[in-house]
Amino acid sequence: MENFSVILVEPIYGGNIGSVARVMMNFGFKNLVMVNPPLTGIDAMKFAVHAKEIVQNAKIFKSFDEMAENFDLLIGTSAEIAGGKNFIRTPISSAKIGNVVNADGNIGLVFGREDFGLSDKEIEKCDILVTIPTDKTYKSLNLSHSVAVILYELVREKNLRGANLKKMKLANKTERDVMLEKFTELVSVFELGDFRTRLIRKTFRIVTGRSFVSGRECNTLTGVFRRARELIEKQKKENI
Ligand code: SAH
Repeated sequence: MENFSVILVEPIYGGNIGSVARVMMNFGFKNLVMVNPPLTGIDAMKFAVHAKEIVQNAKIFKSFDEMAENFDLLIGTSAEIAGGKNFIRTPISSAKIGNVVNADGNIGLVFGREDFGLSDKEIEKCDILVTIPTDKTYKSLNLSHSVAVILYELVREKNLRGANLKKMKLANKTERDVMLEKFTELVSVFELGDFRTRLIRKTFRIVTGRSFVSGRECNTLTGVFRRARELIEKQKKENI
């Protein structure tokens, strides 16, 4: 799980930071990243128990954007979800997160503040949103408990797949970005205006994030979008 990081965005309580570090060590994860954490005090160390080093070695960033630059895939988490029109908060269930265990590149698991969670803007910058199904009378888990569930799911999937199962390589960031560009260029031939084009682009990004496309699938689709656009442009020219 070397390429996975647990990212805490503006955590408030040292006790939670320590508990997160502890559960990370329980499941074999080492990389803790924090955006604007409080000064790490005695509580963090006390709750970390044998995982103090994880807290001490945590990478700190001043802003979400600065942190995001270091990751190829960002997986946001939230109890506050929606469906239908609010596609930014349309999540997958934590039971499906195992799909990313073989992904290449740096993968960030993003957890929000104890009081406000993650903002819409931050969730929009994530490639996938994950929710842990809970009872609807009280959906929001303690921060370290939610980290425990997500890490458990990842390790469980890794063990289930075993070492000799054929790996499907997930698309990396560059492959996904190129596919998104080619898709957007194709959409632009319809001249729908900036607003609608942006909305369609966002929808496509969310849908492909949720479906764990492989590198090969990504390249195939990229080719289709590129050729479709070229064909339409050519026919447009011929009709003029
Ligand atoms: N009302 C806030 C509570 C934050 S709890 C909210 O849900 O947005 C702190 C963090 O724990 C959340 O930002 C999220 O990262 C994680 N978390 C808590 N409950 C969760 C759940 N049911 N599913 C996924 N993540 C959850």
